[in-house]
Amino acid sequence: MPLVPTRQQLIVTEPLDGARADQPMIRIMDAAVYTRPCQGGLLWGVYEETPRLFDMESLGASFDIKDMPLDIDVLRSAALEVKDQLPILQTAKVREFRGGIPTMTADGHHILGPASGAAGFYFASGCNVAGLSISPTIGEALATWIIDGKPAVDLSPMSVMRFKDQPWSEPQLQREAAWQYRHFYGAV
Ligand SMILES: Cc1cc2nc3c(=O)[nH]c(=O)nc-3n(C[C@H](O)[C@H](O)[C@H](O)COP(=O)(O)OP(=O)(O)OC[C@H]3O[C@@H](n4cnc5c(N)ncnc54)[C@H](O)[C@@H]3O)c2cc1C
Repeated sequence: MPLVPTRQQLIVTEPLDGARADQPMIRIMDAAVYTRPCQGGLLWGVYEETPRLFDMESLGASFDIKDMPLDIDVLRSAALEVKDQLPILQTAKVREFRGGIPTMTADGHHILGPASGAAGFYFASGCNVAGLSISPTIGEALATWIIDGKPAVDLSPMSVMRFKDQPWSEPQLQREAAWQYRHFYGAV
């Protein structure tokens, strides 16, 4: 599967004066930094230029996400980059720092649908760090696909078969995936 497990990290700050739940999500597009209100403070993260990529096989069968190495310096540099727009990130106290390993694809889109050569096996992967927001639709589409033999809308553009003529080497795939990650908010 042409997927690249990629580290994504975020910080939740301690409560801050003036942070309210009805404030909008903010994206600083050039720096690929985002923030939104969270439990009286801010939740924020970055899609960094050179993300940490993982080879899941090398991590071993007992690997758990909580064992993933975090690196708060990535967020410190990002905070510095957006100090003019979000000066509060320089001083806000960290209440929680966590991360996970979502999977990126080379074109930034999911991989969905049946696996060729393995009857009854379906993919729902390549979330590209957006799997929560789209999961109800994906679940419904796949359920229909499995039960009725086809989804309610044409999802062939998301088939793994779109990559069949692009046998990337692992380094090429990683470069593409890292580009998609950094440009989560579009090419700026
Ligand atoms: C820090 C961070 C912030 C994010 N922010 C957002 C956001 O704001 N909006 C958004 O939409 N998405 C966000 N995402 C992405 C989102 O979390 C993922 O897209 C989503 O969790 C993917 O869901 P999944 O079910 O495909 O995979 P996962 O949530 O990774 O679930 C896979 C499950 O399979 C289990 N598993 C793995 N291997 C095996 C095995 N061999 N046998 C049995 N079980 C196994 C795992 O334990 C896990 O429970 C974020 C991710 C991170 C890490």
